[in-house]
Amino acid sequence: MLEDRRRIQTAVLGDAASEVPLLLPLEAIEVDAFRKEHAGDTFWCGLLLGGCGGQLTTKLYTDRVCHFAHHPDPDGLPHVCERRARDVSSADHLYFKAAAMAWLAGRGERVRFTFTQPDGLPVGSLLDIAFEREGRAPRVHLDPAITPEWNEEAIEPVLGMSVPVDDDTLIRRWYVHRVRFDSQGTSRQVRIGTAAFARPTEWFGLDDCEMTDDGLQTPAVDRIIRSRRTVTVPSGASPRQVERVTARAIAPLESHDALVRALGAELERRQLRSVDGEATAANLDGSARVAGVKWPLVDAGGVLASCLAEGVGRLYPRHPLVRSVVRAYGGLSAWQGRDLVLALVRAERGR
Ligand SMILES: [Zn+2]
Repeated sequence: MLEDRRRIQTAVLGDAASEVPLLLPLEAIEVDAFRKEHAGDTFWCGLLLGGCGGQLTTKLYTDRVCHFAHHPDPDGLPHVCERRARDVSSADHLYFKAAAMAWLAGRGERVRFTFTQPDGLPVGSLLDIAFEREGRAPRVHLDPAITPEWNEEAIEPVLGMSVPVDDDTLIRRWYVHRVRFDSQGTSRQVRIGTAAFARPTEWFGLDDCEMTDDGLQTPAVDRIIRSRRTVTVPSGASPRQVERVTARAIAPLESHDALVRALGAELERRQLRSVDGEATAANLDGSARVAGVKWPLVDAGGVLASCLAEGVGRLYPRHPLVRSVVRAYGGLSAWQGRDLVLALVRAERGR
């Protein structure tokens, strides 16, 4: 086998199994400083970098890029290493873990990090963060070969810059989080971005972000939610028409609300206990389950806005409101509830 001549820019510190990443500067003068700073340290082709576990040395050049290199084998031949990821970004999963550990520990969170490794893909493609408490768990995607799972409510994908996201997903989810790594001296700085449809991605340091039961929150998330919740009444519709379509939307909401209240009273009477074999319980998402039927939360604003758009559309088919997509707030369960109530409204209208 030929020697792999691609330069190695990252290593781990101390031993082959170490989680402490190192980035070798490209310029000779910086490598000189790096060597002084790390006199007495050892550098390894880390197992968590997909490396061979061999010890590395630093190569200083003034006429080309500096890099790590394996020691020659005892027989004097060049060492053969099948490590695939070698460039400056090849230890980003370790930089993320170190930064996120410090960030979450500072917030008193107890977390477990797992380098989930799907078959045939290098370690570091995925990083799962699990909390002791309930709530959505971030899954960091650093490999475009893995398609994010958007319909799993317990997981929140956070996408590296090489992982694409389509417009439909941005519209449906309102926003998606990204992560980027910028070389800063001999380290990689982690920043979290919030991407939304037709908006530039906004970037924040981890210290500006929060972990909530709903997942990762950046200062941009509040702004996006506020702007999406604002429903504009079309200027073309008369107040009476607006009143009529609104009244038609409110009626099923009220009857649904009355049923949910009645079911809530029933659950309270039963002391919210779920007895084995009895299909009555409070679900974790806040909805109720009675006699085996799930009564979801409802995004009432979404129902009203959808009914308004449909009502106006029948009067003015070319009105801009007809083309607007009304996005639910309140998460997947409220969104499902909205669609359920909308189906009832449409069925009622069809009669
Ligand atoms: Zn190696």
